[in-house]
Amino acid sequence: MARIAIAGAGVLGRLLAWRLSRDGHAVSVFDPAPGPQPPAIGQLVPGAPHAAGFTAAGMLSPLAELDNADASIARLGWRSLALWRRLAATLNRHTATPLLRLNDSLLLAHGTDRGAAQRVLSRLDALPEAPRAEALNTAQLNALEPALASGLLGWRLPGEGQVLPRELLHTLATFAPGVKWHWGQHVASVAPGQLVDERGGTHRVDLAIDARGLGARSELALRGVRGEVVWLHAPGVPLARPIRLLHPRHRVYLVPRPGGRIVVGASEIESEDRSPPSLRSVVELLSAAHSVLPELAEARIEHMESNLRPARMDNAPVIAYEPGLLRVNGLFRHGWLIAPALVDDAMAAAQLTSPMETSHV
Ligand SMILES: Cc1cc2nc3c(=O)[nH]c(=O)nc-3n(C[C@H](O)[C@H](O)[C@H](O)COP(=O)(O)OP(=O)(O)OC[C@H]3O[C@@H](n4cnc5c(N)ncnc54)[C@H](O)[C@@H]3O)c2cc1C
Repeated sequence: MARIAIAGAGVLGRLLAWRLSRDGHAVSVFDPAPGPQPPAIGQLVPGAPHAAGFTAAGMLSPLAELDNADASIARLGWRSLALWRRLAATLNRHTATPLLRLNDSLLLAHGTDRGAAQRVLSRLDALPEAPRAEALNTAQLNALEPALASGLLGWRLPGEGQVLPRELLHTLATFAPGVKWHWGQHVASVAPGQLVDERGGTHRVDLAIDARGLGARSELALRGVRGEVVWLHAPGVPLARPIRLLHPRHRVYLVPRPGGRIVVGASEIESEDRSPPSLRSVVELLSAAHSVLPELAEARIEHMESNLRPARMDNAPVIAYEPGLLRVNGLFRHGWLIAPALVDDAMAAAQLTSPMETSHV
């Protein structure tokens, strides 16, 4: 059993805490957030940082990520989908609403954008292990999603899906066995075998893990990439699975949430501005969403949020290990998608345990 301290309780920090505590390690986690719960809607303070993981739409879509990521991300994604299934089997015991849904996703394009769609689909040819995208005719598309606009081109991406980010983060923190959570604690530095908090207190451990996302920017060359999402309340509009619209200018997805909600996301802007979503982004996201699901016209705009994705200069994730210190970061726009496989790889790099396939998830 190792004594392990984790700086950061976002997607990575909570998944690491869950895995390591269930493998029998003594785990402490430090985060400036006031507690494990998601930030209250309607009370978000513009500009105040909170984990990107809470803002995320929670799409698990390796194939659709090939639109703007390389094959290594898709491979991490496919590994993670299998790991998510195992994790969810355990986590779902604690919640009334399933935290993971893998009933495929749809890739859509307007007829005029057939070329953009073919470009993404052709990237699959280079990946023999990739599941095949299935082209759907109008009747098949309507059978899956009856509210879709007519005239759309569609492909089913088998095995893809979504998590419920806010509920999943809360569940991980609530049920990770024996973890000591230190909320309201800003970690000033992470070094081999120690964390130093902002008051100068030193916490000595066998392994210190830096999972601070953008909070680790002084140690790793990181940048924040702004993303904006809009929550719609549209109880009469059926949507059974995440859909992504391929479009020359916008990458727009719509993700169903419980309670008749649909999250529309997300902009991707090279800016570290944390202020509320701009009119331009909201207009672009919502008009693209409306072009795919015309019945959204009467949906109510419930909430809008922006946040920063932690990214390295090459947009690739990083695992850096030296004795006593593990850093994992740079999950960019696919943190939920790739986190379980990255956690496995990070634990293997630190020689902590066998991969999740054989551990007590
Ligand atoms: C708009 C938007 C939409 C997204 N949609 C998706 C999606 O559909 N699918 C997907 O896979 N990914 C998505 N993502 C990306 C995903 O949210 C991120 O990749 C992921 O959250 C990164 O995880 P992380 O744990 O590294 O960082 P975070 O989730 O940001 O967590 C970092 C944690 O570190 C803490 N911290 C910071 N500084 C300190 C400090 N000094 N001391 C202690 N703790 C500190 C923070 O409080 C936070 O809790 C989206 C992101 C955004 C912004």
